[in-house]
Amino acid sequence: MTNYDEQYDFIIVGSGAGSMVAALYLRSKGRSVVILEKTDLVGGTTARSGGVMWIPNNLFMARDGVQDSYEQARTYLDTLTGDQADAPAATPERRHAFLTEGPKMLEFLLAQGIELDRPKYWPDYHDELPGGSVPGRTVVAKPFNINALGEWKGRLRPSFLALPGNLPAALEEMKLLPLMRRSWKARWMLLRLLGRGVLARLTGKEYVVGGAALQGRMVKACLDAGVEFRTETAVAGLLIDDGRVTGVEAMRDGEALRVGAGLGVLMNSGGFARNEAMRERYQPLASTAWSNAPESDTGEMIEEMLRQGAAPAQLGEFVGYQATLPPGLEPGKLIPGVQGMTASPHAILVDGTGVRYMNEGGSYVAYCQGMQARHAEVPAIPSWAVFDEQYMGKYMLAGTMPGTPKPQNWYDEGYLKKANSIEGLAALIAVDPQVLRATIERFNGFVARGRDDDFQRGERAYDNWLGDPLHEPSRTLGAIEKAPYYAIEVVPGDVGTFGGVLTDEHARVVREDGSVIDGLYATGVATGSVMGRCYPGAGCSIGPGFTFGYIAALHAADAL
Ligand SMILES: Cc1cc2nc3c(=O)[nH]c(=O)nc-3n(C[C@H](O)[C@H](O)[C@H](O)COP(=O)(O)OP(=O)(O)OC[C@H]3O[C@@H](n4cnc5c(N)ncnc54)[C@H](O)[C@@H]3O)c2cc1C
Repeated sequence: MTNYDEQYDFIIVGSGAGSMVAALYLRSKGRSVVILEKTDLVGGTTARSGGVMWIPNNLFMARDGVQDSYEQARTYLDTLTGDQADAPAATPERRHAFLTEGPKMLEFLLAQGIELDRPKYWPDYHDELPGGSVPGRTVVAKPFNINALGEWKGRLRPSFLALPGNLPAALEEMKLLPLMRRSWKARWMLLRLLGRGVLARLTGKEYVVGGAALQGRMVKACLDAGVEFRTETAVAGLLIDDGRVTGVEAMRDGEALRVGAGLGVLMNSGGFARNEAMRERYQPLASTAWSNAPESDTGEMIEEMLRQGAAPAQLGEFVGYQATLPPGLEPGKLIPGVQGMTASPHAILVDGTGVRYMNEGGSYVAYCQGMQARHAEVPAIPSWAVFDEQYMGKYMLAGTMPGTPKPQNWYDEGYLKKANSIEGLAALIAVDPQVLRATIERFNGFVARGRDDDFQRGERAYDNWLGDPLHEPSRTLGAIEKAPYYAIEVVPGDVGTFGGVLTDEHARVVREDGSVIDGLYATGVATGSVMGRCYPGAGCSIGPGFTFGYIAALHAADAL
C-alpha cells in the first residue's frame, strides 16, 4: 500500500476544460477535490482559447426558438463521424453520452452561477448535412470582470481574444471590427463598445472575454466552493495499488509529493502540440512551430497513461488551423490564421503547382486535413493564398487591418509576394505561369456565373458566415482581377492536438483489451475525441471536454 503525503476524495490533473466542472460537481456532493496544475497559470489552453463550447440541443437554443433535438444532433453526428474503424473514441455510446449529458452539464453550470449565452448565429461547420444546424449550437461565457478573482487575478491564463483596454466585446462584435471602414453598423458597434469600456473603468471593472471569461468564471466558482488549486505542481506519474489508480506523484518546489484520492483521478492534462518527438511520431506533417497551443502543452500525461496500459485513440489528429507565418512573430503571440481570408472574395488557395484544390470555406480542421491529403499527391505544404488589390483594400491580412500599409520587412524578407501580373506572381512563387493564370481564370468564371462548380464554395451557410456580409451578390466569391497580385504561404497549423487515450462513455480510461483502468478518468485533448476525425462545429474541443469532465465526476460520485 502506498503512503500518501496528502489525501483527497478526487484529484484532477490539469486545470483545463473539464477540470473545474468536475470539481464543482464533486464539491456539490461534499467531496474534497484538488486540481494540480503544472504551470503558474490556471485555465490551460482553454483559457487562452475562444472559449466556445459546442453543445447541441442546449437550453439557450430552446429559449431563442432555435430548432434542435437529441435526434437531430444525433443524425448530424452519426452522418459526420459515423463509426470510423480508425477512430475508436467516436463510439455510438460516447455520442449518446455527450448528447444527453452536455445539455445537463450546462444547466449544472448555470446553477453554479456561471453566466453563459449563445451567439445568435454561428452555423455548424457542415450545416448542409442531415441534422446540421444553421443558427448553430455554440455556447460561450459572458464577459467576466477579472477583478472578481481577487488575488487570483494574475494567475488566470489570458485569452488570445483580449482587445486593447480589455473592452468587453462579444465574439460577434469582434467579427465586425474589420468592417469598420465600410459599415455604419460596425462603427456604431465600436462606439457602444467604447462606451461599455468607459463604464467598466468608472465602476472599477476589468473585463476578459473568450476562454479567459469561461475559465475565469469557473475559477471563481471553484474557489467559492472550496476546490483547492495547486499551481506549479507537475504530476510525474500515477500511483497504482492492486490495479486501481489511487493517487499521483507530483513535483512541487523540487520535492516529490504523493497525493492520494479515494474516488479516483481525472486527467485533464491537455495535448502534445508542443512535444516535438510525439508530433514527429504521430503527426509528421504538423509542426510544433505552427501551433497556437501554449508551450506547456507537452503531453507527458498521455505518455504516462499509455505506459500504464491505456489504449491509444486518434493520436494522428490535431485541431488544424490554417496559418501563415509573417516574419518577426513573437513566441507566444497568436500565429495569424487565414481561415476567413481565403474564404473571402478576391482570394483563393492554390497548391505548390498553382492549382486550386478545395473549398476554402468550411472548418479549419477539414481545411488542414485537405492540405495534408493534397500533399500526398503534389507539394501542398506550404500552399499559397493568392489574392488581389481589391482584397488588400477590404480585408485583414495576417493580423493587420484592411487597407493599412503592410510592414516593409514582409516584402523585404519575401513573405508577402507582390507582382503587377499573374505571370509575375507565378514566377515569385515558382509555379507555372500558365497554370496559375488558368486557375485564376477558371475561378473568375465561377465568380461571374455565381457558382463554384469545382468545390461549391459559398453553398454552405458556414462558408458565407466566413465571407464578407457586405459583398454582393456572393459573400465569398469575388474575382481576382485587379493588379497588383499577391501571395503568402499557408501551412497546416493548429490550435492543439486532438487525440490521446481511449475513454468510454463514463470517461473511464480503457485498455487495448477493452477493460477499464479502475480509478482513472480522462477528458479533453488528453483523450481521443468523441468527434473522431471530424470537427462538426465551433467548440468541439471544449464542449466535449467540459461534458466528459462532468460525466467523470458523476461516475466517480456514483451518480451514473
Ligand atoms: C487560440 C486558440 C483558440 C481556440 N478556440 C477554441 C474554441 O473557441 N473552442 C474550442 O472548442 N477549442 C478551441 N481551441 C482549442 C482548445 O482550446 C483546446 O483544444 C482545449 O482547450 C484543450 O482543453 P484541455 O482541457 O484538454 O486542455 P488544456 O485546457 O490545455 O488544459 C490542460 C492543463 O493541464 C496542465 N498540465 C499538463 N500536464 C500536466 C502535468 N503533468 N501536471 C499538472 N498539470 C499538467 C496544463 O498546463 C494545462 O493547464 C482553441 C485553441 C487556441 C490555441
